[in-house]
Amino acid sequence: MPEVERQSFDVLVIGAGGAGLRAAIEAREHGMRTAVLCKSLFGKAHTVMAEGGIAAAMGNANSNDNWQVHFRDTMRGGKFLNDWRMAELHAKEAPDRVWELETYGALFDRTKDGRISQRNFGGHEYPRLAHVGDRTGLELIRTLQQKIVSLQQDDFAETGDHESRLKVFAEFTVTDLVLDGDVVAGAFGYWRESGRFVLFEAPAVVLATGGIGKSFKVTSNSWEYTGDGHALALRAGASLINMEFVQFHPTGMVWPPSVKGILVTESVRGDGGVLRNSDGKRFMFDYIPEVFKDKYAVDETEGDRWYTDPDHNRRPPELLPRDEVARAINAEVKAGRGSPHGGVFLDVSTRLSAEEIVRRLPSMHHQFKELADVDITAQPMEVGPTCHYVMGGVRVDPDTGASSVSGLFAAGEVSGGMHGSNRLGGNSLSDLLVFGRRAGAGAASYVSGLSARPTCSAEAVEEAARVALAPFSGEGGENPYTLHMELQQSMNDLVGIIRRASEMEQALARLEELKARASSVTVEGHRQFNPGWHLALDLRNMLVVSECVARAALLRTESRGGHTREDHPVMAADWRRKLLVCTVSGTSVSVVEQPQIPIRPDLLALFDEAELRKYLTAAELEG
Ligand code: FAD
Repeated sequence: MPEVERQSFDVLVIGAGGAGLRAAIEAREHGMRTAVLCKSLFGKAHTVMAEGGIAAAMGNANSNDNWQVHFRDTMRGGKFLNDWRMAELHAKEAPDRVWELETYGALFDRTKDGRISQRNFGGHEYPRLAHVGDRTGLELIRTLQQKIVSLQQDDFAETGDHESRLKVFAEFTVTDLVLDGDVVAGAFGYWRESGRFVLFEAPAVVLATGGIGKSFKVTSNSWEYTGDGHALALRAGASLINMEFVQFHPTGMVWPPSVKGILVTESVRGDGGVLRNSDGKRFMFDYIPEVFKDKYAVDETEGDRWYTDPDHNRRPPELLPRDEVARAINAEVKAGRGSPHGGVFLDVSTRLSAEEIVRRLPSMHHQFKELADVDITAQPMEVGPTCHYVMGGVRVDPDTGASSVSGLFAAGEVSGGMHGSNRLGGNSLSDLLVFGRRAGAGAASYVSGLSARPTCSAEAVEEAARVALAPFSGEGGENPYTLHMELQQSMNDLVGIIRRASEMEQALARLEELKARASSVTVEGHRQFNPGWHLALDLRNMLVVSECVARAALLRTESRGGHTREDHPVMAADWRRKLLVCTVSGTSVSVVEQPQIPIRPDLLALFDEAELRKYLTAAELEG
C-alpha cells in the first residue's frame, strides 16, 4: 500500500468556489474545524469567471421588485420544475447574502444616490443583478477569501495558529469519498504536484465542486468542470436529479476556433445589445414562445422604448430566458442565416457610446480585442450557443443541503433542484451564497449531533489508492486524451442543444464503448505532476455523469427548459410532476421516475390562474 498522509477535520468542504467558501465560513463560524480542498489554485474557482452579476430582489432599481417577483421569475425560468422550497429560500435570502458580502468587504457598483446598482438580465422582470462591472465573480471570490483570512486572524489571536480552525488545501484533487458502512467518514485524493496521497477523515463532507461542462466539446467551462462532485455523490450512494437539463448559453464566441465556446456575458444584451442574422434582421421577435407572449415587446419600437420607460413597455425578446434565445440562434444558423463563422451577430456598438461600452463591459471589450481582433465599440460580435451550466445535481434537502447519505451535503452548481429545467442568469451566484451558507450550517449541526465519529477502514483507503493508481498498471492501453475527445464530440453531437431519441441511443452505445475502453486506460510516467494521469481519473467521473445526462434525456419525452426534443417538441404538463432520479450501482447507472412534491398553496397563489394553466395539469387546476 502506498504511503497515505492523514488529516482530521470536523467538516470537509470540497471546492473553493462561491458555494464552498461560503459553506466553509459558516461551518467555521459554528465552531467546526473546517478544511477547504480545491483542485486548482485558491482563488481560481469557476466562480471567478462570473461576469454579469448576482440576482437579488433588493428593489434598488425598481421599487416594485420583491422576493415574490423573484420567486415567480425563477419558477417561470425553470418552467415550474424547480424545487419550489429552494426557489423560495433563494428569493427570500439573496438580498441578505449580497448585503452580507459588503460587510466582508465587497464593493458593488452604485446608483447615483449611493445604493447598490442593479442591471437587467434575461427572464428577470426588473433590473435585479448587483454587479461589479462585468467582473462580479472576481469580487465575490475576493471578498469570501478576505473573510476567510479575517477568520484565520481571529483564530491566530486566540490559538497562536492561523489554520487551527480553517485550513485551505489548494491543488488537491479528491478521487473518492470514504464511507463507514453507509455513512460518510472522509475523502481520499492526491496532491496534483507531487501525486502523493492524503486521507482526510471527517464526519461531514460538503460537495461544492461545480459543474460538468468539460464533457461537451463547445463549452464556456474551464478544465475543472469534470463532474467530480456529481460522480463522488453517486458512488457514495446519493442520487442526482434533473440531469437531462443542461444549459446552453446562447452567446459564446464562435471564432477563432481556439476560443470557441468562451462566454459572451448576457450583460451585453442586458445593456442593450441586439441579435441580428445575416439578413440584418432582429430575428428574436419571431421566436417569442406562447408562454411568454404577454411579457415581451411585439416589435422593435416597443422593445427600444423599454430601455428608457420599462413601466409602460415590455422588454425586448433578446432578454428571453437563455434556453429560448439559444434555440432561436440555433434555428437561424440551421436555416442558413448565420454569420460567416456559424453564429449570429450580437451588436452593442449601435446602442451605447464607445466610452460607455468600455466602462460597462470592460472584460468583453478586452476579450474580443485580444482573442478575435474585434472592437466591440465599433463592430458586431459573432456568437453562438455554448454548454454553460448543469441544472442537474445532487438531490438535497433544501433547508440544510443534506443529501440522502448521512454526512454528505452539497451546494452550488453540483446540487440539483433550485433551477428546475433552466437557470436564470445571475441566479447562480445568489444560489452559491444562500445554499453554501445553509449547507455549512447543516454540516455543522449534523456533526454536533453525532455521538461517535465514523472511521475510515484500512481496506476502504487501500481500495481508493488502488483505483487511483490503476492507470499506471499495464502498457499500451487506451489514451485518456483520445477518450476525452471522443466523449466530448459524442455529447456535443448526440446529446446537445436539440435532441432526438435515435441520436441519444447512439450516444448511450458510444458511452458503453468508451466506458469499456476507459477501464484499460493507461498513462506513462510517474505520479509527479502528470496531467495524463489526472485526466484519466477525471474521465471516470465524466463518463458516469454523461451517462446520467443521456439516459435521463432519452426518458424525458417532452421539451422543457434546457432539454429540447425534436421528436417531442411540446412541454407536457404531466412531465412537470415527475423527476428523473439517477443512481449508480457498481458501474451501472439507473434512472427512475419519482413524483415531484406538489408546490405549497400559498406559493402557487402568487401566480394568476391564466399563467398556471400553461404549466399545471387539468387535475391539479381543479384541485
Ligand atoms: P466553482 O466556483 O466552479 O468551484 C468549484 C470548486 O471545486 C473549484 O475550487 C474546483 O477546483 C473544485 N473541485 C472540483 N472538483 C474537485 C475535486 N475532485 N477535488 C477537489 N476540488 C475540486 N452565474 C451568475 O449567477 N452570474 C454570472 O454573471 C455568471 N457568469 C458566468 C460566466 C462564466 C464564464 C461561467 C462559466 C459561469 C458563469 N456563471 C454565472 C455561473 C457561475 O459562475 C457558476 O455556476 C458558479 O460559479 C459555480 O460555483 P460553485 O461554487 O458551485 O463552483
